[in-house]
Amino acid sequence: MRLARDISAGAVLDQTTALELMQTPESEVLDLVYAASLLRREHFGRRVRLNYLVNLKSGLCQEDCSYCSQALGSQAPILKYSWLEPEEAVRQAEAGIAGGAARVCLVASGRGPMDRDIERVFGIAEALKHEHPDVELCACLGLLRDGQAERLAEAGIDAYNHNINTAESHHDEIVSTHHYSDRVETIEKVKRAGVSACSGLIVGLGETDAQIVEALLALRDLGADSIPINFLVPFDGTPRAGQWELTPLRCLTIVALARLACPDTEIRLAGGREIHLRGLQGIALHAANSLFLGDYLTAEGQAAADDLALIADNGFTVEDHSLEPVGAGVSAVARARGAGTAVLPNA
Ligand code: SF4
Repeated sequence: MRLARDISAGAVLDQTTALELMQTPESEVLDLVYAASLLRREHFGRRVRLNYLVNLKSGLCQEDCSYCSQALGSQAPILKYSWLEPEEAVRQAEAGIAGGAARVCLVASGRGPMDRDIERVFGIAEALKHEHPDVELCACLGLLRDGQAERLAEAGIDAYNHNINTAESHHDEIVSTHHYSDRVETIEKVKRAGVSACSGLIVGLGETDAQIVEALLALRDLGADSIPINFLVPFDGTPRAGQWELTPLRCLTIVALARLACPDTEIRLAGGREIHLRGLQGIALHAANSLFLGDYLTAEGQAAADDLALIADNGFTVEDHSLEPVGAGVSAVARARGAGTAVLPNA
């Protein structure tokens, strides 16, 4: 397809073309995915990278992000706990590593970390790197202050996640306790510290097609090395409860557009993929090259074994691992296993 050939040759997707692609008729979305798949194959072959989330601290946040079940005022029936003990954090991370994760994401709720929180993560990262030097570590702790990204880099943290979440023009509609510019500033700090910047989106928040394009091109311009695409899980008890505006084909269009806008960037299918992409998850993997394995921060994902089956059934292989495929299934209920519970993790 000419579009993919042009991008492969160095053409950069412009805003007008991106908006036209975002408005692809449903009957032609697979053509868009095909174009994206050519770039995915060129840069990532048949590989799928697995990432595993460990929620070090859940709920109890003072920010008012309207999409988040951990936010101030949220009545969502999620697990709430303060910092995991370091040994427990390592144990949870190792479940994901054993399940095939190439990257472990160490996440904590809150506006941003205190310096003592950075030291906690430092200890966890050191322990994990000692035992698993080949596994990448990503931290996601909120807005960073000066010097904190550098300290995380010293601990061996490879990447830092801080999503822009949505377009700058839509940001004030989704949260009032911080600004888009605060998020961008943290991403810039991460890059200056030599840490890989992971930043992505949550779609399904009432944004327009033009705002999806705005956000994707902003991520490209920010130089995000990996882009997780979350699909809103509208938990009961949050301001977004009942907001089901995505269709599987719209999700697929967004993922394909992300690949066309950012051809050699890691594009990750993230939270909500099971309930929004549904039967199209496998097709989406022909544009995306990365998944979260198992559960999310507060919501359960499908069984880890089903993730592996999804990958194998679509002719892909797990990056750096060879795992046997099994089964299939879908779920969207509050997480009640893994970190913060006595129940074995889903990995
Ligand atoms: S997204 Fe992060 S900062 Fe916002 S409410 Fe949730 S935990 Fe707090």
